[in-house]
Amino acid sequence: MSRPLSSHSVPPSLEQQLNRELELLRLPEAPWMPRRTFQGHKVLDVAIIGAGMAGLAAAAALKFLGIVNTRVYDSAPVGAEGPWATHARMQTLRSPKDLAGPALGVPSLTFRAWYTHLHGEAAWEALDRIPRLVWHDYLQWYRQALELPVHNRFRLLDIESVQAPGLNGPIARLEFDVGENDERRTVHARHVVLATGMDGLGGANIPAEIRNLDRRVWRHSSEIFDFSALASRRVSIVGGGDSALDAAATALEAGAAEVDIYVRGTGFTQINYWKAFTHAGHRYGYSLLIREQRAEMLGFLLRQSTPPARGTLKRLRDASNLRIHFGREAGDFRLRAGTLAFRAGEVQCSADFLILATGYKTDLRQRPELHGLLPHIRFFEAGALDGRIPEAARTIPELAADFSFRAATPDGEALLAQVHCFTGQALLNVGKICGDIPGISVGAQRLAQGIAAKLYQAEHAWQRDALRSYDEQEITDDALHTLYTRTAAPMPPSATRRPHFA
Ligand SMILES: Cc1cc2nc3c(=O)[nH]c(=O)nc-3n(C[C@H](O)[C@H](O)[C@H](O)COP(=O)(O)OP(=O)(O)OC[C@H]3O[C@@H](n4cnc5c(N)ncnc54)[C@H](O)[C@@H]3O)c2cc1C
Repeated sequence: MSRPLSSHSVPPSLEQQLNRELELLRLPEAPWMPRRTFQGHKVLDVAIIGAGMAGLAAAAALKFLGIVNTRVYDSAPVGAEGPWATHARMQTLRSPKDLAGPALGVPSLTFRAWYTHLHGEAAWEALDRIPRLVWHDYLQWYRQALELPVHNRFRLLDIESVQAPGLNGPIARLEFDVGENDERRTVHARHVVLATGMDGLGGANIPAEIRNLDRRVWRHSSEIFDFSALASRRVSIVGGGDSALDAAATALEAGAAEVDIYVRGTGFTQINYWKAFTHAGHRYGYSLLIREQRAEMLGFLLRQSTPPARGTLKRLRDASNLRIHFGREAGDFRLRAGTLAFRAGEVQCSADFLILATGYKTDLRQRPELHGLLPHIRFFEAGALDGRIPEAARTIPELAADFSFRAATPDGEALLAQVHCFTGQALLNVGKICGDIPGISVGAQRLAQGIAAKLYQAEHAWQRDALRSYDEQEITDDALHTLYTRTAAPMPPSATRRPHFA
């Protein structure tokens, strides 16, 4: 699955242009944090879990602010980060091609600059939507061009809070499973950024009755599996979103005999209200709204479904052996003589293979790496605001503006203020500045600024001393000597140039 890094070679002119732009912006800032150790271990300022789009944008935003004592860890092998080259099955992205995405305000970091440099203006003009694997290549180039410190095949297993008196507060001890041979590695970090994707705070939404069924007859759409095994088989798909339609198209292209999609809703909508939730006002103002106002906005959006992507409809348009059943909730799944039997609405159905395109569920209990934090995390009170906060919000943690977890217990407060949830699940708290392309740069910058502020606070004594011992001369002795000589003022002895600390 993974794609070698070398295929992302771009004309040197783009990286020269990028470096020139960074130079003009005086980015990255010079590092300003002291390096610390704890019990002989190096302590990172920030450990980022997940090297997908969000993790890379967070690492870049931190680097631009001079925070370089960071590492990005991803459990996937190189080239298999995120959904793009793994379980995603759409041909093109749903988003418009010219979004700035994770560019952080730097023109040469945009997808457009990269694509145009590779393929030329005419190809850019001809491009309708971004092909999925091309987007993936762009993210791989982004990581390389910014020399982001990514470590692959590091799976985070646990986060533990450790008191570190010399560091003005607790730090996180992270345990990783490294490589393929069960090797364990421990890392210490002041801040942890969870950029672990759509299932980062939970997992695939799989009804209990299906979990126990023979795995040979079903998969969830977030899994990687071989569609060629579906040739000549009757495939049923549960779900009405893009991943259901993409799975249907992929199954049909793989030679499935017939595909039935069962959708709870009564039809597809045509309006993607989320696209209207991306302007600067939403990006910068949503998290300042009071709860009632946020609940009104998000309550409305969460009640809307998203229309199918144009490219997917085109892909399915000529399919003769595809049926979509609206208003049919599927259930009562059981295996009968190797065939899957189930009810859809009032109708008894059967299939050779089932694909669950039922999305993800936010449930921190499904994430072992978060078990140590779970007892301390504060969640939204479901049903709050006379029911305008959807019941499902009960499982969503409350976050501060810098994406850090809010604590339900005093014990957890100090460390949770240093663990940041930079996944789509932060939406309810901070708005659409995480989890997908449109607002990712704003989210990454807000996250980095929040972490910078807390790092500065944690090291205020060091910062104070660094300020006081700052000795870069603005003017040289000679310049001063010339001035004093010319103005006949007595030259003070050089030792007194630096004021004593009060
Ligand atoms: C099929 C599909 C299509 C999409 N299409 C669009 C689109 O067109 N436009 C749009 O704006 N958005 C789209 N999105 C939404 C969003 O942009 C993507 O989900 C995107 O991948 C989010 O980036 P991310 O970095 O948050 O998560 P991911 O890209 O999923 O990266 C998370 C990373 O975390 C790693 N990880 C997870 N747990 C651990 C752990 N314990 N230890 C170490 N590493 C871990 C994973 O290996 C993964 O590489 C789509 C999503 C999907 C699934």
